[in-house]
Amino acid sequence: MRKYVIMGVQGSGKGTQSQLLCEAFDMVHISVGDMFRWHVQNHTKLGAQVKRTMAAGELVGDDEVESVVRGRLEQHDWNYGFVIDGFPRNARQAEFFMESFDIDAVIHLEIPDDEVRRRVLSRRLCPNCGMDYNLIADRPEVDGRCDICGHELITRADDTPEALDARLRDYHEQTTPVLELFARKEHVYHVDAGPPAKEVHATIRKLIGLPM
Ligand code: AMP
Repeated sequence: MRKYVIMGVQGSGKGTQSQLLCEAFDMVHISVGDMFRWHVQNHTKLGAQVKRTMAAGELVGDDEVESVVRGRLEQHDWNYGFVIDGFPRNARQAEFFMESFDIDAVIHLEIPDDEVRRRVLSRRLCPNCGMDYNLIADRPEVDGRCDICGHELITRADDTPEALDARLRDYHEQTTPVLELFARKEHVYHVDAGPPAKEVHATIRKLIGLPM
């Protein structure tokens, strides 16, 4: 069983790289951001608690995060392993995680802030089936419509320049110490997230020793 953490600022391609790895090796993709978005869209109690925080691009409280992550990992539907994305985001979350799980590797996707701004502000999402688009690199066939289900595409509430600046600031302040914590105990692989997704995927597989 393989257990990986994928880290990187928003727009670095964490979601895409997690999915490519999971498809290739039958692992489960655990996206903490997606779990929170599910709660918001389905108007759960937790969704109501976190909606404003998320829309402002701020981090949800550690207690809520820990309980969502713990609940998800306790479902044990990951026979071949998991790739967790968007967690841990600060030192406290990292400590909780390292106490409970042994990780095979941490994959850190590196990308300059300017490139993040360019990618994130052109991102569109299908609220119906979850498909991601990018108006620069991965346009839908029909403007504003999902290729898969035809639903109207939306911009994520937190993909605004203000919210993005808040996320970049948080990322650099809080997530960099997480990488330092991990580096004491786990293998941390730094990967250039600039090239096209397939190339980044191949680099990751080579670095963490997964067959092509
Ligand atoms: P993401 O899809 O990873 O960009 O996450 C979207 C939003 O969910 C973030 O901006 C936070 O508000 C919240 N979130 C996701 N993961 C975490 C985490 N590990 N800690 C705190 N907040 C989180």
